[in-house]
Amino acid sequence: MYSRLFGAALPFCAELIFDNAHIIGTAPLIMGRLVMKFGGTSVANIERIKNVALHVKREVDAGHDVAVVVSAMSGKTNELVGWAAEASPLHDAREYDAIVASGEQVTSGLLAIALQALGIQARSWQGWQIPIQTSDAHASARITGIDGSEIIKRFKERKEVAVIAGFQGIHEATGRIATLGRGGSDTSAVAIAAAIHADRCDIYTDVDGVYTTDPRVVPKAKRLAKVAFEEMLEMASQGAKVLQVRSVELGMVHNVRIFVRSSFDKPEDINPHANQPPGTLICSEEEIMESQVVTGIAFSKDEAQISVRQIEDKPGVAAAIFGPLSEGNINVDMIVQNVSQDGTTDLTFTVPASDYERAKDIIVKSKAKIGYTRLDTATDVAKVSVIGIGMRSHAGVAAQAFAALAERNVNIRAITTSEIKFSLLIDAAYTELAVRTLHTLYGLDQA
Ligand code: ADP
Ligand code: ASP
Ligand code: MG
Repeated sequence: MYSRLFGAALPFCAELIFDNAHIIGTAPLIMGRLVMKFGGTSVANIERIKNVALHVKREVDAGHDVAVVVSAMSGKTNELVGWAAEASPLHDAREYDAIVASGEQVTSGLLAIALQALGIQARSWQGWQIPIQTSDAHASARITGIDGSEIIKRFKERKEVAVIAGFQGIHEATGRIATLGRGGSDTSAVAIAAAIHADRCDIYTDVDGVYTTDPRVVPKAKRLAKVAFEEMLEMASQGAKVLQVRSVELGMVHNVRIFVRSSFDKPEDINPHANQPPGTLICSEEEIMESQVVTGIAFSKDEAQISVRQIEDKPGVAAAIFGPLSEGNINVDMIVQNVSQDGTTDLTFTVPASDYERAKDIIVKSKAKIGYTRLDTATDVAKVSVIGIGMRSHAGVAAQAFAALAERNVNIRAITTSEIKFSLLIDAAYTELAVRTLHTLYGLDQA
């Protein structure tokens, strides 16, 4: 769907020479088109917005066409979400979107002003003005299409920088503002990069790249030079919030090269004509020469466990459990079913902590249909996931983890595996211990 909607009417600009950039990876672009996305910490106050403007100026001066995507100032979206909940805990999602989208409106205007003050032609854009079209799933809408033609026209006619409010779009049929879910500015940035055929999408954040695990939790974490889309997709969906999952999906589908880097590098120290400063390139697997067995470890405390006990082991039981959950729009993650011994079985699954009460309620209401005798639940659980494309060709990677965690007395509640990842559900109190243990076990610690 995206390939149809994105850029079909926007031919590749043959007059620009991008070849070097494609071949050399993160080598400097020679007059290209860039999307630069700045997260909340990077635009936290006016001083930082002025610093962001200098980063943008550097790329403009180097001759690039630049579209900037900004988040709200850090803490702003949380504050807005809090206000909506304070006004009424159960509120209309369309109004929630009207409220929370305002954070990005402010920063886009401020950055446009800061750029103009540096003598750069710049204009702010809200999602509806471009437009960035979305579905009507308010608070977690998906982008369905972007018309990048006006932005491209202005690049050509006046070298104008587009400063775009991230996180938001418009559901055209209703004309309502919709937001893309928390962390959604990453997705705005990658989608815009696809729509305007950018050569690269730079994600400027408060860390200088993607690390083997969250560097704030494991100081020995190492920065990765390159990560394959598929691995990044797993890392993001298993809890590494450095990129929103959807942004990686879009990058993979449209082959947008994503470069994660720090906005705290001093703009004046960076020579856009020299090699790029530190960062992590998210790219296709073929570009990665050597891959480790394990690339990274992600974790999430946003989990809740529900165990449905002593259900009859017969066809239709799983459907009776997961059907109503899916109708309730609840994302089920790990699912583990025991082999039955006496004609009954147990089924355990996890849901996001924020959906726990609703999920429990649905299972209780479906009790007669499911036919279980007991329901056990836990909210103080965490999921630790080990990710690496090298796992495809290496056996016994998970077995090593089980032994190492047993030695540390960490009990494993549930296990799931896929081709390039395995996940373990453990007590939340052991999260840091488990992540550090596995980080060392797989040789990821910095020397
Ligand atoms: P922004 O506001 O710029 O979007 P986020 O807070 O959303 O930034 O994402 C950056 C944060 O992601 C980092 O500060 C870091 O704590 C966290 N993070 C989690 N896992 C990783 C990882 N594997 N590599 C780098 N950062 C990570
Ligand atoms: N401001 C939004 C959030 O905090 C979107 C983003 O920053 O990516 O979730
Ligand atoms: Mg983010």
